[in-house]
Amino acid sequence: MNSTAPTPTLPDESGHFGTFGGRFVPETLVAALDELTHEYEKAKKDPAFQAELQDLLKEFCGRETPLYHAERWSEKLGGAKIYFKREDLLHTGAHKINNALGQVLLARRLGKKRIIAETGAGQHGVATATVAARFGLECIVYMGAIDMERQHLNVVRMRLMGAEVRGVEAGQKTLKEAVNEALRDWVTNVRSTHYILGSALGPHPYPMMVRDFHRVIGVEARRQVQEKEGRLPDLLVACVGGGSNAIGLFHPFLEDEGVRMMGVEAGGHGIQHGEHAARFQGGKLGVLQGTKTWLLADEDGQIELTHSVSAGLDYAAVGPEHAFLQNEGRVEYTYATDDEALDAFQEVAQTEGILPALETSHALAYVKKQAPKMGKDQILIVNLSGRGDKDVEQASRYLLPTEDDPS
Ligand SMILES: *Cc1c(COP(=O)(O)O)cnc(C)c1O
Repeated sequence: MNSTAPTPTLPDESGHFGTFGGRFVPETLVAALDELTHEYEKAKKDPAFQAELQDLLKEFCGRETPLYHAERWSEKLGGAKIYFKREDLLHTGAHKINNALGQVLLARRLGKKRIIAETGAGQHGVATATVAARFGLECIVYMGAIDMERQHLNVVRMRLMGAEVRGVEAGQKTLKEAVNEALRDWVTNVRSTHYILGSALGPHPYPMMVRDFHRVIGVEARRQVQEKEGRLPDLLVACVGGGSNAIGLFHPFLEDEGVRMMGVEAGGHGIQHGEHAARFQGGKLGVLQGTKTWLLADEDGQIELTHSVSAGLDYAAVGPEHAFLQNEGRVEYTYATDDEALDAFQEVAQTEGILPALETSHALAYVKKQAPKMGKDQILIVNLSGRGDKDVEQASRYLLPTEDDPS
């Protein structure tokens, strides 16, 4: 790898990953972001903070998660030996709680008693409501009205844990509008409130901090594959919404030259305007919600509509560190369509007895194409970012059309 190879010390002081990232926010938030950065740097070096985080990750969340050999699917595809990193087995059913837990511990250090969050599929909202309940903090979650409909089960879960879910009716009524509302709330209530942002996105320090809280995925996987195989994998695969589960898996391997990495975005109905959320296909450089990165916008810079069968990948911008890694050529990015994801969902369910999240199914769709092209002596790890319980109604509408629709 060349001398500009990414190192764990990125971003720089002002939150830039090369030309990407930074902090594009109203003046009122600058002090809060500085305070958060400072407290985070202190906490990172504080053995008491790290010990409590590690203890809760183990006892409350269920780490470490297994590195599972998907034996039947590997055999069926007839190529690479496929391992699943089982983040779907974590408490609340996805990787999101790694970050929510880390941030709630920071909020407590900062003396903030009110927590806000945005959510798309509802998984981050559920993770946030969970840790807020665990620490007795007030919790408000902003969620697009369309997402509330397609992920109703998660709305119920949040409310049962005492969170207030506020529906957002603006614009496309999905994740982007929910982030806008959360930012607006934060500007108004910044003294009492910590904003638990849910992906490796937004203004500095969020992309760095969220990445660091998810690095545990890759750190464990790296150790586990060495224990099981005595060597590093040939290929890592993860789906990319904002990019938190992917960067969590990839980051600890960035300096391992022989390890290829593939991020899989949502191809929706195919790469036409408004029909997908694959920012590296037909996207451009711009600024959205506090950060400079690749995003989907028209000639006038207006953010385009996005579409994905999975609410968790349905967002117009990608995390700035992914923009950097793509630019460096260190990580490659591709996409899977709705149909390809649903097909992989069904195949993994029926071959491995695991219902993956529809987000995760995009990564699995790429594995389905790529694994047969690899040798039987090659090793592939795919991040099983979440479980598909939240998606069963939606999946059954496509895959079991004769089933009575319960809704
Ligand atoms: C939220 C979510 C994603 C997408 O978010 P990233 O920040 O890109 O990881 C992927 N998979 C699952 C299961 C999710 O809940």
